[in-house]
Amino acid sequence: MSDKLKVKRGQDLVTPGDRLGVIEEFQAGRGTYTEKGVIYSRTLGKVVIDLKRKRISVQPKTRVPPIPRKGSIIIGEVQQVQDKMATVKVLSINGEKLNRPYTAIIHVSYAVRGFLKSLHDAFRPGDLIKASIIGVENLPYQLTTAGRNLGVIKAYCTRCGGSLTYRKNRKILECEKCGKTERRKVSEEYDVI
Ligand SMILES: [Zn+2]
Repeated sequence: MSDKLKVKRGQDLVTPGDRLGVIEEFQAGRGTYTEKGVIYSRTLGKVVIDLKRKRISVQPKTRVPPIPRKGSIIIGEVQQVQDKMATVKVLSINGEKLNRPYTAIIHVSYAVRGFLKSLHDAFRPGDLIKASIIGVENLPYQLTTAGRNLGVIKAYCTRCGGSLTYRKNRKILECEKCGKTERRKVSEEYDVI
């Protein structure tokens, strides 16, 4: 922005500190601040001018949701588990939380390195998993949990709902409450995240 008010339309994107006008001409609305009679933008956003009220404000630019790509790391919650296929509610991509979670799938052949007979031996509904996106060409997105850092990062007992602790030496999950042991495709980051 130059010294003179250039903003004429409501589509201009401004950044914090951009000069928007002077208080003789406009009221300072939301997303702005004034200093020595000059109105500045407080935020990154779109300039909105209310000509009737002679008020200038800045509507914050909404965050662009993270775009899933091949290789993106996701955190998700296991929904339904069948022998060959499980559905996962994707909660975050590359550490960025999604406002609108969506569903992805894991096929049994991508759950572990090597052979797995049934996904029931790897996941249970309610498990939190870390996975990698292997394909975005088709919907729903396909995930893999093959890899040491991928797999279940938090799980709960299917009998009592208690928190499961990973017993590394026995490669088994054990319920802290009732002692039941369970199997999963456990990530080496289990309980770390
Ligand atoms: Zn239990």
